[in-house]
Amino acid sequence: MDKTMKPYIVAGPCSVESREQLREVTEALAKIPQVQMIRAGVWKPRTRPGGFEGLGAQALAWMRELAAEYGVRYCCEVATPEHVEACLQHGIGTVWIGARTTANPFMVEELCTALQGSPMTVMVKNPVCPDARLWLGAVERLQQAGIQEVMAIHRGFSMYDNHGYRNDPLWEVPMEFRRERPDIPILCDPSHIGGRRELVVPLATAARQLDYSGLMVEVHPYPAAAWTDGEQQVTPRELAAVVEAWLAARQEGTGGDERLEPLRRRIDEIDHELVALLSQRMAVSRHIATVKREEHIPVYQSGRWSDVLEDRLRQAAALGLDTSFTKEMLEKIHGESVRVQIESQ
Ligand code: PEP
Ligand code: MN
Repeated sequence: MDKTMKPYIVAGPCSVESREQLREVTEALAKIPQVQMIRAGVWKPRTRPGGFEGLGAQALAWMRELAAEYGVRYCCEVATPEHVEACLQHGIGTVWIGARTTANPFMVEELCTALQGSPMTVMVKNPVCPDARLWLGAVERLQQAGIQEVMAIHRGFSMYDNHGYRNDPLWEVPMEFRRERPDIPILCDPSHIGGRRELVVPLATAARQLDYSGLMVEVHPYPAAAWTDGEQQVTPRELAAVVEAWLAARQEGTGGDERLEPLRRRIDEIDHELVALLSQRMAVSRHIATVKREEHIPVYQSGRWSDVLEDRLRQAAALGLDTSFTKEMLEKIHGESVRVQIESQ
């Protein structure tokens, strides 16, 4: 793949349902020039048993046939060495590792053994949990197995509170991934992050603003009738609009430095103040720990924490700060304060 080619759009159905469905979506996607590759799940990881689990190798045979007919390339998810073997046998040149698999280094290692020495391109979805290191680890294992082309896919994280998404995007996690590995192209999967087709355009636009390399989008000829992930799939015509929105979302202006410079300096000053204040706050926590130890008072006092939280959230609301952001930040600070106090006991 040409890593410099932008956007890198991968699109196609969540699952292959029939030869006809695959043909219909392929015919439509082959007409959208930005689509570099067609995705199609043939083994489906289901959260609960009893659902449609994919058509398996027969779908790969259809892919091989339609790839030749329409001049397109397909990719699919692999979760076991047998899946890798079947893809290699059917001439599939690109596979992806799903979010549940990336979370498990044993499974990634097994896939690496099966992939060793093959010319496959491998795309690695983020693990279901927000751990950039597991994601980086999977990429490193693949590279150690000799895989030349590795890409990353940001599909969001399964959290206790997903903030209205199917999977919380937690943009800071892919940012951490990219800080470590700026050389790995990253695609955004707005379908699995959003879980609803209305969210595909806004999420794709956000990814473009964040300089992602492209998108993986679920596309179905009749999304409402899809066997899996019906609420998040878009039609090929809607995909064309997603691509348009992507292209329009970012202008490549190069000026602006003069106006940004003083604002960035101000941000630097504020951050330094925040860090200095946090350090002072932790010093007070250590002092409190000493008093509690001497007075035989337990570290954690639930009434006090509720009062603190309520007071700060009221202040944040009055100042126009987002409440859930403020709450998460305060919880982190309080957690650290508790840790510091326990350590000083
Ligand atoms: C998919 O892409 O269809 C899929 C199952 O993705 P994920 O691994 O992100 O859940
Ligand atoms: Mn899906």
